[in-house]
Amino acid sequence: MIAEKIKYYQSELADAKLIAVSKKKSVEDILEAYEAGQRDFGENYIQELVEKKEQLPDDIRWHFIGHLQRNKVKYISEFIHLIHAVDSIRLIKEINKQALKQDKMIDVLLQLHLAQENSKFGIPVNDFESFIGELKKAQISNVRIKGLMTMASNTDDTDQIKSEFEKAKKFSILLQTLYPDAKELSMGMSGDYKLAIEQGSTMVRIGSSIFGKREY
Ligand SMILES: *Cc1c(COP(=O)(O)O)cnc(C)c1O
Repeated sequence: MIAEKIKYYQSELADAKLIAVSKKKSVEDILEAYEAGQRDFGENYIQELVEKKEQLPDDIRWHFIGHLQRNKVKYISEFIHLIHAVDSIRLIKEINKQALKQDKMIDVLLQLHLAQENSKFGIPVNDFESFIGELKKAQISNVRIKGLMTMASNTDDTDQIKSEFEKAKKFSILLQTLYPDAKELSMGMSGDYKLAIEQGSTMVRIGSSIFGKREY
C-alpha cells in the first residue's frame, strides 16, 4: 500500500518534491516508503525524529515541519536537511549559533501565517515585509533562507484555499527580492496538494494519504 502510494505521488507530482510526512508512523512504514524510492521525510516532533533517524538509513533527507522550540535546535542541527517552519528572528539566531558550532550551513524556510485559524505560529502577513527587512539586517552567517512554507485554512471552500495559496506565491516573490535564492514554496498536504501545485508549490507535505490515518 505505502509503496504504491509513493510511486503514485512521485509520478503525479512532476516538478514538485514529495515530502512524505511520517509523524506517528513506524520505522517499518518509513522503510517501506524508502524501499519504494522515497528519500525525503517530514517529522513534527524532535524526540520522535531523533529516535527514528538512529534506526533508519543515513541517506534519508529529514525535514522538520513542526513548530521548533529554540532549546531543541541542538538535537537536530547536525543532520537536519531543511527546517520548514521558522517564524522568529530569535529562532533563526539560535539555528545560526548551532550551525556555527558545527561549521556548517543550515537551510530553512520562513513560515507564513495565512490560514483563518488563530494559530500562534507563522509570520503574520502584515508583518512579513518588516520581518524580512529585519532579518536582512541581522548578522546571520550560517543559515540559508531557501523559501517559504505555509498551510491553508482547514476548510472545504476550495476558492478560499486557492486564494491563500495565490497569496503565498506573491509573498514568495516578495521574499525573492531580498533573497534571490529563496525559491522554494512548501505548501500542500493530503487534502489540498493539487491546488497548491496549481499555485506554484515546489514541495508538498503529504502524510495521511500515504501512510493512512494517524492515531493519537
Ligand atoms: C501533519 C502535517 C502534514 C501532513 O498532513 P496530511 O493531511 O496528513 O497530509 C503536512 N504539513 C504539516 C506542517 C503537518 O504538520
